[in-house]
Amino acid sequence: MLDKKYNAAEKEAKWLDYWNQEKIYKFIPDGRKVFSIDTPPPTVNGKIHIGHIFSYSQTEMIARYKRLRGYNVFYPFGFDDNGLPSERLVEKEQGKKAHEIGREEFSKLCYKTTDKYEAEFQDLFSKMGISTDWDIHYKTVSPSTIKISQASFLDLVAKGHCYHKESPALWCNECLTSIAQAELETKTIKTTFNYINFKTVEDGEEFTIATTRPELLPAIVCVFVNPNDEKHKHLIGKTAHIPVVDVEVPIMGDEKVALDKGTGVVMCCTFGDQTDIEWWKKYNLPLKYIFTKDGRISENVPTYGGMKIKEARKKIIEDLQDGGFVVKIEELEHEVQTHERCGKEVEYTVMNQWFIDTMSHKEDFLKIGNEIKWHPAHMQNRYNEWVENIMWDWCISRQRYFGVPFPVWYCKDCGKPIFAKKEDLPVNPLTDKPKIDKCTNCGCKDFTPETDVMDTWATSSLTPLINMRYGEKDNYEDILKPMSLRTNASEIIRTWDFYTIVKSFYHFGTRPWDNVMISGFVMAGKGEKISKSKGNSKIEPMDAINKYSADVLRYWAGTGRLGNDIVYSDETLLRGKKLINKIWNVSKFIEMHLQDYEDKEINDYEYIDKWILGKYQEMEKGFIQYLDEYEVGLALNILEKFFWNFCDNYIEIVKHRLYRPEEFGNDARYSGQKTVYILLYKLLQDFSIFFPFITEEIYQEIYHQEKSIHLTKIKPLEFNFTNEMKNGDLIVEIISKVRGEKTNNNVSLKTPVKMLDISLNDELNAAIDKSIKDFKATLFIQNMNISSIEEGYQVNKIELEMTD
Ligand SMILES: [Zn+2]
Ligand SMILES: [Zn+2]
Repeated sequence: MLDKKYNAAEKEAKWLDYWNQEKIYKFIPDGRKVFSIDTPPPTVNGKIHIGHIFSYSQTEMIARYKRLRGYNVFYPFGFDDNGLPSERLVEKEQGKKAHEIGREEFSKLCYKTTDKYEAEFQDLFSKMGISTDWDIHYKTVSPSTIKISQASFLDLVAKGHCYHKESPALWCNECLTSIAQAELETKTIKTTFNYINFKTVEDGEEFTIATTRPELLPAIVCVFVNPNDEKHKHLIGKTAHIPVVDVEVPIMGDEKVALDKGTGVVMCCTFGDQTDIEWWKKYNLPLKYIFTKDGRISENVPTYGGMKIKEARKKIIEDLQDGGFVVKIEELEHEVQTHERCGKEVEYTVMNQWFIDTMSHKEDFLKIGNEIKWHPAHMQNRYNEWVENIMWDWCISRQRYFGVPFPVWYCKDCGKPIFAKKEDLPVNPLTDKPKIDKCTNCGCKDFTPETDVMDTWATSSLTPLINMRYGEKDNYEDILKPMSLRTNASEIIRTWDFYTIVKSFYHFGTRPWDNVMISGFVMAGKGEKISKSKGNSKIEPMDAINKYSADVLRYWAGTGRLGNDIVYSDETLLRGKKLINKIWNVSKFIEMHLQDYEDKEINDYEYIDKWILGKYQEMEKGFIQYLDEYEVGLALNILEKFFWNFCDNYIEIVKHRLYRPEEFGNDARYSGQKTVYILLYKLLQDFSIFFPFITEEIYQEIYHQEKSIHLTKIKPLEFNFTNEMKNGDLIVEIISKVRGEKTNNNVSLKTPVKMLDISLNDELNAAIDKSIKDFKATLFIQNMNISSIEEGYQVNKIELEMTD
């Protein structure tokens, strides 16, 4: 028998152990249709916040649903311990920068730290009832993953989609690494627009340029005007003298110069922005690179060398003012590009780096985007917009320590890259030597290792390949090409989703998955999402589990709508708690009445039983439809509504029949027993998606046919009870009216009704006639007067037996 009171903490621990021991969620290929989930490996940077709980629970509910539909669910978990986030965590914990610790020691610390946090993550996700197969979990920095990531790199190089080039790249002088366009975040800052006078060398004509970045004057290589600009086009072909830095540069024409912004004259420096890079390439301009990697002006720049960028800006404005070259200075708010990980304004650098071609196959990437079903559908627009607006190939070199090394060395003399052989992977070029004697190009016998590591996304974009064990003998390539589902938040469509599509296209020419499910964010308050970088989450997931139980916390996560944001709300949690309590109590009630129950064929159900079976069947159809569309929240909503109808109306009616067979007859009682037996089973199955723990406890106690409720299959009902559903709804409505009358009179619901005078249409009259015993017993009716009416019903009089 079920316990009097449900002890969540005790039962949740018990079932977690049981599932682990019995390997309930283990993936074993067995010929059944596979549903595979490519779930985002959380970044291992210290803490799981409530936002993770929300999005991972929603995905997990899909895994449970698919299992109930008979799929063999492939649901691995991964940890992203790659790259900057891990490095920053270690630096923070050690109170030292990576270069102070030393490369090798630092890497060791990174491994140690990520292992520690991964164990904590696994514990928390397990306690949340995440039904992943931990035997197939992966890390993004491990020998097997490094091997796959390096193999992917070599494949792309061989196919000509990945190349090595000295080229301008985005640079973060806080994180000391180059970064990719996808890591940029646009921010609005306050700055000044400085109007500065230049002069032509030829005839000393003054003209004004406006710039937000006068510190770039030492890097100026050209002045541009628009050839259609009547006021300035005569300057084209002349030479400009630049004040303070005292250099001369050509004045050229280009239609990209905006006529309506600034003065119509702009300076081109290497590099201040994307346009500078375009012009530098287009006109083959010289390179004057003046910044150091850590955000200062190079020592070789006169006067300003060694200064920080902002210091130099201030000083150069002063010098320009002293010389009388400044016309005016305007306050200005404008947009700058910052590094999303640290919030610092990005600069540009020029160095030898590895790039993956993202520019020349945009049409293919859009085509693949079209082959994938996006949930919700409008999220595809974000993907399309991103692809259409890409301006750079993807730079995958990072000047950091902890990550996947490039399997590459360079010839010391001629610089030719020497690649590792596939069969030798994984390699670390810093400790391994290339397996050739001399450079095939120049015969030199000395090689230098590549010291950069790969961008985090270069590896996490390979999760489908990691899951299928790409390149291994014993692999899942046929089962997982493509995977069924990718889930993630909208903010990483441009990184994780896009890069995964790029890789899948280059490796296989196909889409990586059939479906993408995009979750919203958990909001800390109005318009502010909870994020680890802001540290604005006051809710510790483990505290919430301890306070409410994992099932209740999952209820909150389950209410979220696809693609919509959600607020962490105690009100919602309390509603979940109440619901789960009710599931327990109604199960206990049903269990009590099933003690003598034997499942057998039934000739005919009682009328009101047909009503609730029909109602369930209708709900189940919608429930399945919503879950097939990944609308977890809508599915939970209609299930919950049905459940309360079942408890508040149906159980209140049927209980009389269950308690008193002597009055109603054994067949009528059996009809009620069979109905609750069927429906509780189905409700437990449906709720098991959201509340895996309590439903297992009840299932094991009452049904116990399979090893676990999570291994059962949903078999949709196939009754035809349309009429009973329609009239049953009206009967329940009448019952509610009469009960409402009792409540309004402040009397017990058991108060007898001396007389119920009611008018019914013929159909409803016949329906009530068929359920007359249930109807009278539920309302404690002594006498009834029924008259006929054309349409619907009318309650004429309710006379209660008042006892003063
Ligand atoms: Zn940064
Ligand atoms: Zn060579």
